[in-house]
Amino acid sequence: MLVAYFSMEYGLLDCMPIYSGGLGVLSGDHLKASSDLSLPLAGIGLLYQRGYMSQSFDSDGWQQEGSPVNDFYSLPISPALRLDGSELVVSVLLGAATVFVKVWRIDVGRVKLYLLDTNIPQNTDPEHRDITGQLYAGGLHKRISQEIVLGIGGLRALRELGLQPTVYHMNEGHSAFLAIERIRVLMAEQGLAYEEALEASRSNNVFTTHTPVPAGIDLFDGGLMREYFDEYCRQSGIRFEDLVALGRHRGNDEQEPFSMAVCALRASASCNAVSVLHRDVSQKMWENLWPGLPDREVPITSVTNGVHLPTWINGDLAVLYDQYLEPDWREGHANAKVWDQINDIPPVELWEAHRRRKRRLVTFIRERAIEYASARQAPASEIRALSEALDPEALTIGFARRFATYKRATLIFRDLERLKRLLTSVNRPVQLLIAGKAHPQDIPGKTLIRDIIHYAADPSIRHRVIFVEDYGMQVARELVGGVDVWLNTPRRGEEACGTSGMKAGMNGVLNLSIPDGWFDEAAEKSGGWSIGGRDIYSPDRDDSHASSLYSLLENEIVPLFYEGREDGMPSEWMQRVKQSLKHLSGHFNCERMIAEYRDNLYSPAHAAYSTLLEHRFEPSRERVRWSRTVAEAWPNVKFLSCAVGTPGISTGAAVPLQAELDLAGLEPSDVRVEALVGRVGATGALDNPEVVLLGSSGRNSSGWIFSHEYQPKSTGRLGIAVRVSSNHFDNPLNRPCNTLLKWADR
Ligand SMILES: *Cc1c(COP(=O)(O)O)cnc(C)c1O
Repeated sequence: MLVAYFSMEYGLLDCMPIYSGGLGVLSGDHLKASSDLSLPLAGIGLLYQRGYMSQSFDSDGWQQEGSPVNDFYSLPISPALRLDGSELVVSVLLGAATVFVKVWRIDVGRVKLYLLDTNIPQNTDPEHRDITGQLYAGGLHKRISQEIVLGIGGLRALRELGLQPTVYHMNEGHSAFLAIERIRVLMAEQGLAYEEALEASRSNNVFTTHTPVPAGIDLFDGGLMREYFDEYCRQSGIRFEDLVALGRHRGNDEQEPFSMAVCALRASASCNAVSVLHRDVSQKMWENLWPGLPDREVPITSVTNGVHLPTWINGDLAVLYDQYLEPDWREGHANAKVWDQINDIPPVELWEAHRRRKRRLVTFIRERAIEYASARQAPASEIRALSEALDPEALTIGFARRFATYKRATLIFRDLERLKRLLTSVNRPVQLLIAGKAHPQDIPGKTLIRDIIHYAADPSIRHRVIFVEDYGMQVARELVGGVDVWLNTPRRGEEACGTSGMKAGMNGVLNLSIPDGWFDEAAEKSGGWSIGGRDIYSPDRDDSHASSLYSLLENEIVPLFYEGREDGMPSEWMQRVKQSLKHLSGHFNCERMIAEYRDNLYSPAHAAYSTLLEHRFEPSRERVRWSRTVAEAWPNVKFLSCAVGTPGISTGAAVPLQAELDLAGLEPSDVRVEALVGRVGATGALDNPEVVLLGSSGRNSSGWIFSHEYQPKSTGRLGIAVRVSSNHFDNPLNRPCNTLLKWADR
């Protein structure tokens, strides 16, 4: 097996800013953990000339963006070499122009990451050189060019390197052009028709969606697609209409733009979301790609993200672990037993380690704040105040993330007076550290930052609230290792997963969060606190969420931290800390995540593709022929009758299910007849319905009979619905988009 992992950004090192936020840090952690587990994987990304924007503020608190230049020669990278030892350069078509792409290599332990770079002399057009200029900067032309270089250039680079991946993982839709290039290659080299090549490549494409809101998805209109792909289609023999249809809900709707996510969903047999709740959200978001299928059955599964523990755990805690845990604790993250030994650590040692961390954090933040304030020539009084800001013994809350509006960074400022009372308490002071960048074009996000900086300038609280400039992996590491409480207040349903809270949790920092993304799975066991309930967000919730946040702080968190101390240590608090360390370290780490990808997605994809290779793609040809036959007959396939016992109150006795179908010449094995059985819920819909297969039991004069004796698992009012679909999946989770489906009338 070899997995090719494609991502637009990678957060690997503080000194290499080719990432913007969580997606990049996750990709970096994915590579590191793959190396730890010896999973054969190669990463593909872009080597940006300038790092993602750096952040500073003007005297009014308005974000200023800088463009740090990456000096490739001081980074731990080297040119990738062909098998014959020459430096590798590949090319891609952008419209009618040829763009050359240099390939660099960085070793992440055992895993190799290949980074693509267009800033080379072979490209005479300055625009071409600038394609890999900067991450998420520039308009749609820049974006589509970057994505062509990533998806198409990336695949070409792997081939020139002599690598033969057996699984292709698109981490987010940015790399979905890869799917098209794979089709082209299979057509050219295996003599497959377009449909056959799509069918074959789909078997081992894996797509991970990270976007729970439609606005986050790359869309390219038909005109732009034609500009960039006309020549590609001419040379490859792929019909332009087929190519754009791959990225549309309704293939022939010329008004509909090409969606990178739709393309990836259509082209991948395995699709996953990044937390259980995000799976539910994604299933609803994409249900119209599987018409007629209930959203719960939309074939998108979930692998909850994790973080790379050795990267994120702080040094003082690691020293304690070395002392009290099995010596191989660094290798056995996914083994819950290792973490049970946290019970053996004397709480006071944990407490002291954390205090050391917090002192270090306070020094770090002061020095950094003074450095930035001096750079913007802030008044001497402000700089003096910064040198005394913060109290290493105070309860410290951290909040750091991108300033996208859905994250509601200002929720804790909603009632300023109430917040001030918490911050300025003499005996039980609270302090707040905030960090995060807004995208340069995100004016609402920048406005939120400025609002916070204005609040924090209030002389009565300015020693208690600091906005830390230029959030990145280094600042993240100091914060998640040194604060006491990690705050997260997204609108529920809009945070796909979130990972900073995991980093905090495995450093013994307690989470205070909306139960969204990963925290929806962890809240009860995390040792932390949930804000609000589990209802999906609506704007009228902001007030009640803010109020719930304040009362948790006032009535539970602050008292727990300051009261009932034994020898200066809050013992109940430390019990919660232990709970967080034990539960979150063992579950939300990247080893668990990589093992799930390997077992549930990569291995089946590898096996499916190996079978195709072994049979020289004959199964793909056969599958396409079969699909055509079924599609032709389908308009005439119909239910002749459907008898499903007496619906009503189930007494627990077996319910006979039977349907009679006219298959319009198809064989019973060409279709799947299924009943959806469940209790009728309050809204009249079925609660947690079960899918039951009806087996073929021969035919009578008019049609084929399918039947099953259903044994109810509980009593109550049963609802039953019967359907027929084309039977082209061994695993319902691989069901292709637009699978043919008809429901029986009742
Ligand atoms: C972990 C991390 C993130 C992701 O945090 P979220 O919880 O998803 O907001 C973003 N940026 C940096 C620098 C990180 O280290």
